[in-house]
Amino acid sequence: MYGLIEELYPICRSITGEGVRDTLRILQRHIPLEIQEVPSGTQVFDWTVPKEWNIHDAYVKDFKGKRIIDFQQSNLHVVSYSHPIHARMRLAELTSHLYSLPDRPDWIPYRTSYYNEDWGFCLSHRQLEQLADEEYEVCIDSTLTDGALTYGECFIAGSSTDEVLISCHICHPSLCNDNLSGIAVATYLAAHVAGLAQRRYSYRFLFIPGTIGSITWLARNETNVRHIRHGLVVTCVGDGGGFTYKKSRRGNAEIDRVMAQVFRHCGKDYVMQDFFPYGYDERQYCSPGFDLPVGCLMRSPHGSFPEYHTSADNLDFVQPQYVQESLELYQEVVEVLEHNRRYVSLNPKCEPQLGRRGLYSAIGGDSDAAKKQLTMLWVLNLADGNHSLLAMAERARIPFGQVREMVQILERHGLLREATSED
Ligand code: ZN
Repeated sequence: MYGLIEELYPICRSITGEGVRDTLRILQRHIPLEIQEVPSGTQVFDWTVPKEWNIHDAYVKDFKGKRIIDFQQSNLHVVSYSHPIHARMRLAELTSHLYSLPDRPDWIPYRTSYYNEDWGFCLSHRQLEQLADEEYEVCIDSTLTDGALTYGECFIAGSSTDEVLISCHICHPSLCNDNLSGIAVATYLAAHVAGLAQRRYSYRFLFIPGTIGSITWLARNETNVRHIRHGLVVTCVGDGGGFTYKKSRRGNAEIDRVMAQVFRHCGKDYVMQDFFPYGYDERQYCSPGFDLPVGCLMRSPHGSFPEYHTSADNLDFVQPQYVQESLELYQEVVEVLEHNRRYVSLNPKCEPQLGRRGLYSAIGGDSDAAKKQLTMLWVLNLADGNHSLLAMAERARIPFGQVREMVQILERHGLLREATSED
């Protein structure tokens, strides 16, 4: 995953353009990803697919002709969606188009001007302060033309048409935690899901530009969203902070309960947040006209770390072990969703005689035996067709995997069967 982040890091992405296509083509080497193109001008609910932005070069040259701000050094130097310009101007005029961070004088900020035509450069505050009052040559060699909005969709069929939606944004240039970490984890999660021997759910992975991408996808798939049973937005999963889960708008969806369960036993720091209508694409999935059961699983939330939307959100800020931990947590969520079924005890009148059935030896005599025995009693007691494995794990305060393991043992011993819709 870290190698993928390194490979994607230099690409200048935005909400449209070749950077997005280049990124998606690289992902196609890992997962079966379909690239979709939606023409500029397409109406999507209250929004319109914007013109396509591409950039080839940009710089500010001093009077000696030396590039003092250079897009080739960092794509963050140019405000994303800057319209083309080639002009000479004095510092006073140039300054109104320059952005820096006075309190972080060595970092370059990340700025965009998607929906109002403008141009600008971002630079470190230290560099800004050194600019002399002279004439500068300013050039942004960009194009803003009718083209398309590009997104990627990876559908992995399961035995049911019920879907799990995993969505990440792909619109940021050289920024690692927000958003390359999300792209990497979503890609490797898709590969993991595709490799599962059995899948109960179908999985839909979206690689979309933030906001306009999810709005566009929802507008084109309005009739299909009814299949979505659970969803997660993946973002900021590569930093060293603890985990954060922002609940779906519903607040009590199965995915919200699954996250609480997985967190409770993950052995790491975590925070559960209630839904609020700001953040990433969960804003669109959880708009009242859709109200999908989609939460957002992150490490440090956007805006909570100073590196956010600056050049310091770089290849040092994200680390392989953190993206790996995040991927493992996502895999565990998939595991719980896949196996969260209901069971019925085949011996519901009083406890079955465990010794006679060889169940004490089945759970072994190790130090965990007492715990396992209690897990067995919980499962037998709650296997009434109404409690899902998740409900059992919640009520017994036991990790989901241990409940599932016990269900398998009891099933083998003829004491449980999976519940049907009649139960
Ligand atoms: Zn962002």
